[in-house]
Amino acid sequence: MRILLLGGTREARELAHIASGERGFEIISSLAGRVRAPLLPAEGAVRVGGFGGAEGLRAWLADNEVAAIVDATHPFAAAITANAGTAARAAGVPLLHLRRPGWHERTGDRWIRVPDLPAAAAVTATLGVRVFLTIGRQGVDAFAGLARQWFLIRAIDPPEGPLPPRHEILLARGPFAVEDEARLIAAQRVDVLVTKDSGGDQTEAKLVAARAAGIPVVVIERPPLPEGAETVQTIAQVMGWLRALRAAHG
Ligand code: NAP
Repeated sequence: MRILLLGGTREARELAHIASGERGFEIISSLAGRVRAPLLPAEGAVRVGGFGGAEGLRAWLADNEVAAIVDATHPFAAAITANAGTAARAAGVPLLHLRRPGWHERTGDRWIRVPDLPAAAAVTATLGVRVFLTIGRQGVDAFAGLARQWFLIRAIDPPEGPLPPRHEILLARGPFAVEDEARLIAAQRVDVLVTKDSGGDQTEAKLVAARAAGIPVVVIERPPLPEGAETVQTIAQVMGWLRALRAAHG
């Protein structure tokens, strides 16, 4: 069974490792090719780059005789997730979405949940003047109009497009430790943190540090999954789904 694994996340790498070790599964991991030095799965084949929209992906599925797709992309990678749904339907290929759970507010947290980047920028402008922006490389332009604030922008690769006039860029890749996040927040006198609700433990430390520092956190909510999308939260559940498909294949 050839399985297309849409990746770019730690879960996708783990899944490639686990599924490649099982009889009957041939994994092809797919990366967008956005980061300059991507972490590659250690097992299975890897392809890099876009497919050319939903139609390109549909053709790729047919050309490569793909038996199933697992969408293990980041919760904010909405375009590829939507394309996977359209292409899988058109090609008659079963599709499962793996989405790690989002983060939950704890006692002591001061979270402001917002639906999107423009709303995040608008509320950030009212909350502080030294902003720790941890939304990744994409979408920073939504904050470009905030001239009163200073930004510490952290991403794996440098952000593109217009940036806020007063900023410093910190290139770093998680996981991050709570002590380091706390030290950074204190040293840079950060008074507001901005994050996507990515979930997972790789980048959760900043939330713990923000809670301890008593600073507000602007949390950008996830884009919704396409209606009717079959979704699980764990790698074990994906493996169960794949094994059931393998059994059905005979
Ligand atoms: P996106 O907006 O959903 O996708 C934009 C386009 O990039 C897609 O239409 C597709 O191009 C291509 N693409 C995206 N993921 C791909 C994949 N795994 N394999 C092949 N092509 C892919 O995606 P994004 O938010 O830019 O994220 C890109 C990648 O980075 C994803 O793989 C995601 O898992 C990872 N990532 C994203 C974030 C985030 O915050 N968005 C954070 C961490 C990791 P075509 O239309 O040409 O096929």
